[in-house]
Amino acid sequence: MDVIIIGAGVIGASIARALSKYQMDILVIEKDNDVGDGASCANSAILHSGYDPEPGSLKARLNVLGNQMFDEISRDLDVQMRRIGSITVASTDEEIEALGPLQKRAEQNQVPLQLLNREELLKLEPFLHPSVRFGLYAPTAGILNPFELTVASMENAMDNGVKLHLREEVIAIKRLQEGFLVTTNQGTYETKIVVNCAGVHSDAIHNMVHTPEFTIKPRRGEYYVIDNLFTPYIKHVIFGVPTKAGKGVLVAPTTHDNYLVGPSSDFIEDKEDTATHADILKMVKDRALTIVSTIPFPSMIRQFAGIRAVSSNDDFIIQEASHGFFDVAGIQSPGLASSPAIAKMVEDMIIEKYPTTKKENYNPRRRRVVRLKECSLEERTKLIKENPLYGHIICRCEGVSEAEVIDCIHRHAGATTIKGVKKRTRPGAGRCQGGFCEPHIIEILSRELGRKKTEIEYAKIGSNILQKRPEFREESQGEPHENH
Ligand SMILES: Cc1cc2nc3c(=O)[nH]c(=O)nc-3n(C[C@H](O)[C@H](O)[C@H](O)COP(=O)(O)OP(=O)(O)OC[C@H]3O[C@@H](n4cnc5c(N)ncnc54)[C@H](O)[C@@H]3O)c2cc1C
Repeated sequence: MDVIIIGAGVIGASIARALSKYQMDILVIEKDNDVGDGASCANSAILHSGYDPEPGSLKARLNVLGNQMFDEISRDLDVQMRRIGSITVASTDEEIEALGPLQKRAEQNQVPLQLLNREELLKLEPFLHPSVRFGLYAPTAGILNPFELTVASMENAMDNGVKLHLREEVIAIKRLQEGFLVTTNQGTYETKIVVNCAGVHSDAIHNMVHTPEFTIKPRRGEYYVIDNLFTPYIKHVIFGVPTKAGKGVLVAPTTHDNYLVGPSSDFIEDKEDTATHADILKMVKDRALTIVSTIPFPSMIRQFAGIRAVSSNDDFIIQEASHGFFDVAGIQSPGLASSPAIAKMVEDMIIEKYPTTKKENYNPRRRRVVRLKECSLEERTKLIKENPLYGHIICRCEGVSEAEVIDCIHRHAGATTIKGVKKRTRPGAGRCQGGFCEPHIIEILSRELGRKKTEIEYAKIGSNILQKRPEFREESQGEPHENH
């Protein structure tokens, strides 16, 4: 191997894609059973404008640059992104005072930002709380689909020759005279370069080769998801004034016309603990209701939590820690918005030090994804004529057809779990939360992957939904369709 990338979150996937234009053997190793199952799938999904990070920090530089790169990225990878703008609202004297320093930061970071009074704000956003007096409007901010960004980056990297090993955990790394020996729970690999993109575990990966230099502390954020309301509601990302604990609570639409309310911000011990808590969510709710006056909580369809990877220097850590070993660690918010710029930075660092020729046949574009829900009647009719499975609706809430589900299974970095299908094409993400479509998804996964239904996992490794009936004998398990 030339390069081993540890971790298939948005950062590992983006770096894999950036390096896939060179003549290199690249392997991405991911401990989970899908790409983007860590922080990259549980976050606020905001394309931050970049006015808020400390000027001069890596976060500030890469957020601003990353934001600018997103028009091209979302076009090439066919990833949903909308520049809807963000508003940071202030009600109390203290909050209004905090807007001044934020405006100064915006100037230093060279991000357009306008101070608006209540009258001006209400023209943009009539749902603001009556107490809101001023706000900062950032027109370049937006929303994006983080799962799709991760999956699409990895798919395009694989289209260009990158290999991906899922369900494989890196457990040791040894420096050799030339390069490294990477040991996983499945085998060993020699590689010239290691890129550490292990999210909350990137300190542990760094320490496999070096003396401890930084720590990564997990800070959990909990959210509510509100259903698509089909009536006019907020159109911008609405933030409260940020605090030391992060960007604070926001209310925002998603690219699928749901709404997110959150996150909380609590340091925890267990780096994988994504449980949600009624008391914490209650605090989120109370805070959110001070920035937007009516939030339709009765239409809440889900709660979830994501874990931020907070580094000991509170900035991104992007460095060649020692010859051939690159850390891309502590990538907390605005990691999504910065991801293309982080990938470019790491690409430049690697190629400058280890010059490599470019591939002649590199293709930066991902094959177009059919989203039936967004198609006109004419487009639907044409698709159904070509493939009748576009006419077989599997998910009624989100209007997803069997053909779309099959496509997401057979692409590079395709879905193998129920959540994997949900992340890529949305069955299970709507009002019924899988009540109608999940049995169909199990059938399709089982059929398309040639696996027994009892082998189909919901999300994480070992989360199989169906079990054998105790009275069933092993022989009766021959055909996938015999399982219950
Ligand atoms: C609550 C919250 C809100 C956020 N909101 C935003 C936002 O609105 N906008 C924004 O720009 N950013 C936001 N972020 C930040 C953004 O989500 C992250 O910066 C980004 O997802 C980090 O990606 P990553 O690839 O570094 O980490 P991850 O997605 O966590 O990926 C790391 C991967 O490494 C794998 N791994 C770990 N150890 C090993 C091992 N030993 N062997 C193999 N694999 C391993 C893990 O399984 C995981 O898949 C938010 C984050 C959180 C948690």
